[in-house]
Amino acid sequence: MSKLPSIKTLRRLERLVQLGARPPVIRSLVPTLHDSVISDAWSEHHGRRAPRGPLPHNVGFFLVSPKRRLQASFILAVFDDLRRLGVADAEALIVTYEQFLATFDDDSSPVDSRLTFDRAWFLIREYTTVRSLLLVRCDACGSRHIHRAFELINHGQCPACGLVEAARNECLPESSEPDSDCSKIELPDLPALGAGFSPGWGELSPEIVDKRWVS
Ligand SMILES: [Zn+2]
Repeated sequence: MSKLPSIKTLRRLERLVQLGARPPVIRSLVPTLHDSVISDAWSEHHGRRAPRGPLPHNVGFFLVSPKRRLQASFILAVFDDLRRLGVADAEALIVTYEQFLATFDDDSSPVDSRLTFDRAWFLIREYTTVRSLLLVRCDACGSRHIHRAFELINHGQCPACGLVEAARNECLPESSEPDSDCSKIELPDLPALGAGFSPGWGELSPEIVDKRWVS
């Protein structure tokens, strides 16, 4: 007779289903559960059978724009900090993704371009197991950002710096004075990407976190 899953395991299954993880990803994070328990929980929550098809496999997805790189960097940085605090990988991934959803309004993005839980799982796997990605610290702003491994480090790819530069370039000054509003656009306060652990990332001002950057 097989052993019944613990309450802790079932709670983890519930959180993963709610976060949109597909059954193969859930299986990799909760290997003790029987496949049918996972599929039944998924179907019950979503009201349909889980979609089949390949899991995320494209690293380029995370590097295509400063906005995407900022989101991916946030995920890697929070995960890294949790791991260093001794949180196990599956739990760290779940908490990281919950932090991501609380920080970025990703629901307004088209489904195909959304950084879904499965994509976050793939991102972390590339970072921890395959090691095709790194977190490097930007010389200019000090924030940590995603970078391909085995590639020359190029701090021009720092998304925080890139987004500020883009905002300055797009800004239309009200006057030509050197201290116009445009020249005052500054780097966002990114504690999760900077030194120390700050999972809330709640210090960002609403002006900085505008939709263009995070949605
Ligand atoms: Zn930077």
